[in-house]
Amino acid sequence: MSTTAYQFSESFARAMDAQDPLRNYRSNFHFPKIEGQEAIYFCGNSLGLQPKPTEAYIQRELQNWAEKAVDGHFYGEDAWYHIRKKSKPALAQIVGAHEHEVVAMNNLSTNLHLLMVSFYRPTAGKFKIITESGAFPSDMYMLETQVRFHGFEPDQAIIEIGPRPGEYTIRTEDIIEAIHSHQDQLALVMMAGLQYYTGQVFDMKAISQACQQVGVPVGFDLAHAAGNVPLQLHNWGVDFATWCSYKYLNSGPGNVSGVFVHERHAENPTLPRFAGWWGHDEAERFKMEKGFKPMFGADGWQLANSNVLALAAHQASLDIFQEVGMTKLRKKSELLTGYLEFLIREISGTSGVLEIITPTNVHERGCQLSLLIHKGGKAVFDEFYKNGVVGDWRNPNVIRLAPTPLYNNFLDVYLFAKILEQSLQKFA
Ligand SMILES: *Cc1c(COP(=O)(O)O)cnc(C)c1O
Repeated sequence: MSTTAYQFSESFARAMDAQDPLRNYRSNFHFPKIEGQEAIYFCGNSLGLQPKPTEAYIQRELQNWAEKAVDGHFYGEDAWYHIRKKSKPALAQIVGAHEHEVVAMNNLSTNLHLLMVSFYRPTAGKFKIITESGAFPSDMYMLETQVRFHGFEPDQAIIEIGPRPGEYTIRTEDIIEAIHSHQDQLALVMMAGLQYYTGQVFDMKAISQACQQVGVPVGFDLAHAAGNVPLQLHNWGVDFATWCSYKYLNSGPGNVSGVFVHERHAENPTLPRFAGWWGHDEAERFKMEKGFKPMFGADGWQLANSNVLALAAHQASLDIFQEVGMTKLRKKSELLTGYLEFLIREISGTSGVLEIITPTNVHERGCQLSLLIHKGGKAVFDEFYKNGVVGDWRNPNVIRLAPTPLYNNFLDVYLFAKILEQSLQKFA
């Protein structure tokens, strides 16, 4: 559908919903209420909604625990000892990887540190890291403290690539240029795949290629990309990546993170790592002997046995992703976000209240649109919320709205547009 065919009318939105092949998934999710009314929930970028089957998945593990206790580790079709295998097919599909390249473990910030142990190996002459400016705080603190841990100064070691003056997003050519110009001193490129503030998707393929040309490892934080945009981590040659599962992957607050390690590192004995028994050769784990022998692939980065109840919630959501597939999800996502973009432009036009800073090119964005607020500040966000819209406010002046294709529909977008129309009268 070309954007010119979009219309600002309820009947158009309803017609789009009627022909949406994913329309029935909405009823598979619990929606929060604001003052008794079901919210227009555009905050899947921060916390995805709870799938209705999640409760039963957790209940089943509670029952396993009640009935089998310690035997639950080894007996039954869902023996916990092999639980790491369960999420692999879905995770591999979501990030474009082989199953042995992915594993669910720990939390995102923890995994960033663990992966840095393996992939940030600075020397006196080659110690710099390229990242995007304005990265998510946890990522900034991680980089800063890793650099100091190795005895370098963040000011000297961390090169932040930002937008050019007067622009809001970062040009791929500027990232590539920096990779080439710093190559002699560069130890790592580590950045977001999808920037949380602007909603920009970086050209991970081009960045990875540039890194390979200069022989520098590259890692991506995919917190906002996993389950949102198409990813081909294996084919792009990305060295490592990690993401959380509670945003677009709808696995519940603080739930487990995912890790990708490219298969070229599956058996690389020169990579240092911080090990635990769960990364040790599964067949020999219970020999309880000295001498760490990592499992093949991403599994070799595991430290500890997993939180089974958390993984149950993770799986409830991944099974939905498996059923739908990223291709269909993305197709709807482009239409849905395109509709939101069209309506915001139609309505806010020349009001001067706000401006979309997320790229217009669909290849450079996921479902989120970031609105830079020029007039009214946070009051604009509060006005949306009062009217039942859940988005989020990010300092200093951005509202993020993420219509997610699994549970949002075109009517949500239309209803938001009506609220926007009303709100603008107050702030223009
Ligand atoms: C959400 C998010 C995090 C959160 O990290 P946790 O360890 O899950 O608390 C980190 N980095 C980015 C880029 C994020 O978007």
